[in-house]
Amino acid sequence: MYREDNILSGTSRYCSRVVMLTRTRGEPHRKHFDNVPLLSTVGQDISDAEDAFSVLANDLRVQILEALADESGQDPVSFTDLYEAVDGQNTSQFSYHLTELTGRYVQQTSTGYVISDTGRRIIQSVTAGEYTLHPDFEPIDISTHCPFCNGTSAEATYNGQLATIACLSCGETVLRYDLRPGHTADRNSVQALKAADRQMRAEVSSALDGVCQRCGGSMVVEFLTESEAEPAVVLVVCDCQQCGTRLSAPVEMALLHHPEVISRYWGESVNVTTTPTWELLPELFDWNVEVDESGVATVVIPGREQLRFRVRCDEQVQTSLTDTVSRERPSSR
Ligand SMILES: [Zn+2]
Ligand SMILES: [Zn+2]
Repeated sequence: MYREDNILSGTSRYCSRVVMLTRTRGEPHRKHFDNVPLLSTVGQDISDAEDAFSVLANDLRVQILEALADESGQDPVSFTDLYEAVDGQNTSQFSYHLTELTGRYVQQTSTGYVISDTGRRIIQSVTAGEYTLHPDFEPIDISTHCPFCNGTSAEATYNGQLATIACLSCGETVLRYDLRPGHTADRNSVQALKAADRQMRAEVSSALDGVCQRCGGSMVVEFLTESEAEPAVVLVVCDCQQCGTRLSAPVEMALLHHPEVISRYWGESVNVTTTPTWELLPELFDWNVEVDESGVATVVIPGREQLRFRVRCDEQVQTSLTDTVSRERPSSR
């Protein structure tokens, strides 16, 4: 008994920026897929970013944004009230810096000033220590399943924004996370790693539905494969058309967000939406991925009720993963 779903598709263009999370049975294989973060940001217009951040390179300007952000409502704050709320030395200096902020970060109305959405996001990041604090992360032992050597012991360490889970047997990187100060605040290393994992999974889930979690822009989803790879490796790559964020992961990771898969594991008392990825790797290792000559990949999840998913690797998908599924349920006779 099985269900067969046609899920998604993508062009045959290779993405070389991915961490292998899992693969099918057989010898380790990662020929064209280099060992880099699962979440990677590419393609942003740096000149625009430099311009935007240079405006903020002043203490008084940051104070102005903080003062405006503290106003819970959207009522404009008058020039005088705003001046009194910050540590300004004279009104002309204050006026100059306020003018510099107006447009991108602050909006001027007939009765005063309000912070823009961009200004609010920036000041929230500053308050969360995104640009000033360094995560406090102690190395920890992790039980998982290394996709490269089948080892089960790994260590999580932190090095400059990235937390890495590396296999203690072969030394390969199994998972890598964008670890931010917010993840480690009030959390120990295990909790921080779980928080980073949760956030990464939410980003992937949203991206698969066509929405970039970082900017709200449209994600184009592609499934990529390498015809000569043995065993087969299929990657899902999501590209934000607005901010350039790129997420890439093995197809098995994408399927963890599919309702059929969530339901199947829920029936076995496993919540795949909240279980940390490293704890799911031993399970994912039993899934089978095959790609035929026409570029159609089949993912089979074994078990009492086998699940089968089909992935066509020759066109882009701009709608959600689940909306593009056409189900073929087995006949009841
Ligand atoms: Zn290993
Ligand atoms: Zn984006």
